[in-house]
Amino acid sequence: MRLIFVGPPGAGKGTQAKIICAKWKIPQISTGDMLREAKASGKLPQELVQKMASGGLVPDEVVIDLIRQRTEQADAQSGFLLDGFPRTVPQAEALDKLLATRAEKLNVVVALQVAKDLLVERATLRRTDKRTGQIYHLKYKPPPPDAELEHRADDQEEVVRNRIETYEKMTADLLPFYEKTGLLRRIDGVGEVEEITRRVMAALEAAK
Ligand code: AMP
Repeated sequence: MRLIFVGPPGAGKGTQAKIICAKWKIPQISTGDMLREAKASGKLPQELVQKMASGGLVPDEVVIDLIRQRTEQADAQSGFLLDGFPRTVPQAEALDKLLATRAEKLNVVVALQVAKDLLVERATLRRTDKRTGQIYHLKYKPPPPDAELEHRADDQEEVVRNRIETYEKMTADLLPFYEKTGLLRRIDGVGEVEEITRRVMAALEAAK
């Protein structure tokens, strides 16, 4: 199963992706995580660090290269979930080409949909436990007392609004691109985590 998860920041994409990957035993491949790792190990050029900090996109070639290398690894051979990639039509086209060279195809593109005001609240109150990667929400899913909480630099309100705007511009082209190919499934991302997982699983089962 090769799938893409698309959703604005705070839509619960990361949370759902983790659940789906555990159920289907496929790796979650997140360009955002890979870029943050590169940054943490000092391998990301300063101009890209700044791009990320401001909520802008890094160049297509950079993320396409990350995806090419990551999807070549052994654990990605039976499938993967792409999270945060592609974000532009050129990235989507590059992905199609890359998969075609391996005689592979995408199965489904899941778009999680959540209204803007809810997104801002979700993202600004989101915290991650550094040790486990588990995502919490200060209001809806409080972390345990021993969690080592981290607030992502790009989850600050102004940056979140900028990222949502960037997302809206991006999907204006990207979703129609996948709609045309018949792979797109729009899923309501408002509700309990388990309920949304059920909606996503139903869409995936139908696309198998
Ligand atoms: P994310 O964790 O997916 O929200 O990504 C965090 C940041 O990494 C984004 O705001 C971008 O600066 C950068 N980034 C991640 N994935 C991509 C992508 N596919 N194309 C361009 N920039 C990306």
